[in-house]
Amino acid sequence: MIAQLTALLMALLTAFSVSLDTLAAQMAPEGYLMLVNRDYRLPAEYVPEDLVYPQVKHSSSAYQMRSDAAAALEELFAAAKEEAGLTLYAHSGYRSYATQRDIYQRKIRNTKNLEKARLLVADPGASEHQLGLAMDVKNKPNMALNAAFGKTKEGLWLAENAWRFGFIIRYKAEWTDITTYAYEPWHVRYVGKEHAAILQELDIPLEYYVEMLRDTKGEQE
Ligand SMILES: [Zn+2]
Repeated sequence: MIAQLTALLMALLTAFSVSLDTLAAQMAPEGYLMLVNRDYRLPAEYVPEDLVYPQVKHSSSAYQMRSDAAAALEELFAAAKEEAGLTLYAHSGYRSYATQRDIYQRKIRNTKNLEKARLLVADPGASEHQLGLAMDVKNKPNMALNAAFGKTKEGLWLAENAWRFGFIIRYKAEWTDITTYAYEPWHVRYVGKEHAAILQELDIPLEYYVEMLRDTKGEQE
């Protein structure tokens, strides 16, 4: 199984002309494959340098992203409109470490259950929103973010098409044990078009993908 997956990965990297030499830079801070989770945390002072507001409909004022990701989001939202007549709203993009800390603490207060809170909200430093490469997407401005979004026309379209614009659905229901986060059909993460296409094909969490790339690269050296 693992050997088959590795063979498929190698074939896909070749098909998409992804050079193994560039992977280290892509997985480093500022790279679009940077893995952030509870094991790989960002320092409090990390702030991306190229944050901009994508020119899209939005349902909050906190929807900045890094510039390439913002441009890709504009394409994604435009395609949803043109191809399927769907309107998407950018709700939550870049968040500072301090903002994430506030959200996390509020969630703990509201749920009064640390375990549940941690499933739903990242603790500061463990959120890829701090990377400026993630966006929470809504189908209606005042809709709550919950699993039901995955069943809406917009959520289904997003799951099927986000990869074409360089985004992945980062937290699928079946990956909770690996990602440590609950199903979030509304949360897309920018990784660039090549990697998004490969991830769509492999259908594995970013954690596994980055680990496989590191192993593949290690064997080459
Ligand atoms: Zn999110």
